[in-house]
Amino acid sequence: MSTIDRKLLDELGEILGADGIVSRATELKVYECDGWTIEKSAPDVLLLPRSTAQLSAILTALHRRGIAFVPRGAGTGLSGGCLSLNAPAMICTSKMNRILEIDFANRRVEAESGVVNLHVTNAVKSKGYFYAPDPSSQVACTIGGNIAENSGGPHTLKYGVTTNHVLALEVVLPDGEVVELGGPAEERCGYDLVGAVVGAEGTAGIVTRATLKLMREPENHRTLLAAFPDADTATRAVSMIIASGIVPAALEMMDQLIIRAVEEAFNVGLPLDAGAVLIIELEGLEAGLTAYADEVAKTANLAGASSVRLARDEAERALLWKARKRAFGAVGRLAPNYATQDGVVPRTCLPRILRVIADVSRRYDLRIGNVFHAGDGNLHPIILYDEREPDQVRRAIDAGREILKACIEMGGSLTGEHGIGVEKIGEMPLMFSPDDLRVMTELRHVFDPMERSNPGKVIPQPGACVEVAAPRRQVPI
Ligand SMILES: Cc1cc2nc3c(=O)[nH]c(=O)nc-3n(C[C@H](O)[C@H](O)[C@H](O)COP(=O)(O)OP(=O)(O)OC[C@H]3O[C@@H](n4cnc5c(N)ncnc54)[C@H](O)[C@@H]3O)c2cc1C
Repeated sequence: MSTIDRKLLDELGEILGADGIVSRATELKVYECDGWTIEKSAPDVLLLPRSTAQLSAILTALHRRGIAFVPRGAGTGLSGGCLSLNAPAMICTSKMNRILEIDFANRRVEAESGVVNLHVTNAVKSKGYFYAPDPSSQVACTIGGNIAENSGGPHTLKYGVTTNHVLALEVVLPDGEVVELGGPAEERCGYDLVGAVVGAEGTAGIVTRATLKLMREPENHRTLLAAFPDADTATRAVSMIIASGIVPAALEMMDQLIIRAVEEAFNVGLPLDAGAVLIIELEGLEAGLTAYADEVAKTANLAGASSVRLARDEAERALLWKARKRAFGAVGRLAPNYATQDGVVPRTCLPRILRVIADVSRRYDLRIGNVFHAGDGNLHPIILYDEREPDQVRRAIDAGREILKACIEMGGSLTGEHGIGVEKIGEMPLMFSPDDLRVMTELRHVFDPMERSNPGKVIPQPGACVEVAAPRRQVPI
């Protein structure tokens, strides 16, 4: 494969200017992984375009030489999606961070792909609107990364994932061509090419601009914290609450390991003697909210809650959400490294999968914490390990694979929101037949016939599908 030579660097420099290129090995170290830290591989060059025109020009230059590239937003991905495997050039959208138009009458916003997720809501909240997909990384992750991963978050239960909120996209194809997909109207005809790009994990080119739907802020909230003796009881309560006919905006669970880490870090008053807690948020018109909150508290008590507490005011609600959204950060106190898994099971299988996770934790002799979107059946087992111990790394990888296999056996999925990346590419044949994978490859080829955009991600190589045992590991194991 071609790589980056002096002549090309000069050409790229002319397009981007000196502050648009990083090529020193020490500086490139920053870009050697995302939140999936088990694998590392730095690019040869990092390119930072400021506009679609610049991005198109650099992709055209790379295309002429057949050079592969990897798109990157904020690098908060948890499946190794922006690992620079077989792609010498990394293209980061962090300088494409402008909100271009806000249209309240049509409830939409147009933003460049490097805009940070939370900045969209910040730009519209004074008028009572918000952007619904809110990953727990929303203070850092970008709209482009969200689109690539089809991200969700705590409020997915009520609002759905990113794909439910994207109307139109501007995409630069790997040969530099700029295409517009979708449109401002809510309903479209023809094949859903926006839907094909959302969740493609950067294998269809680089998203440069998106038209997103805005939602009206609900009139009010009620946020409850329910404590349970163990995770089993808490997850049974989840199914009972949904079965009662009430769909909360969010239904999040943290187990004991996570409660302790969060409490040590943020001191929010979580019950340290609980085996698990649920954060349950209801929202809507003020009229009726209290009755719904009472009903949910009653159901949680019936399911075996040891206590149920209503956040007294906005400050307490914000504190609970801070605890939940920063839980991953708090886990850093527990071990030198951790791998966050992302699987899905039908909601009623939550007690079963948690027992599997506890068993895997014992057998692999690794601590595993659980903090997840329980209402969606979307799990995030956090496997703690130390990368200086090769055997622990190996066990962490194997333990994660065993959990994902169990998710699939229960009728679930390999990912709810973090994507396949390199982390789970080896597990794709567990869910998809060789024919399924071939069709996915053919669809990818419509956008990227030479497989130069984010190579080695999502779809295992044809012919190797069934044999792929595990993706390339960069740490010594
Ligand atoms: C603490 C923490 C909490 C998290 N919580 C959640 C959560 O609740 N829900 C959730 O869904 N995720 C969560 N994540 C995962 C992660 O934040 C999301 O996957 C996010 O969407 C990644 O955005 P990013 O800008 O960091 O993308 P990156 O990590 O930079 O890239 C992710 C993928 O998108 C591709 N990509 C990036 N930009 C573009 C573009 N413009 N065009 C095409 N492809 C592109 C990359 O090639 C890569 O494959 C969490 C991560 C962390 C660290």
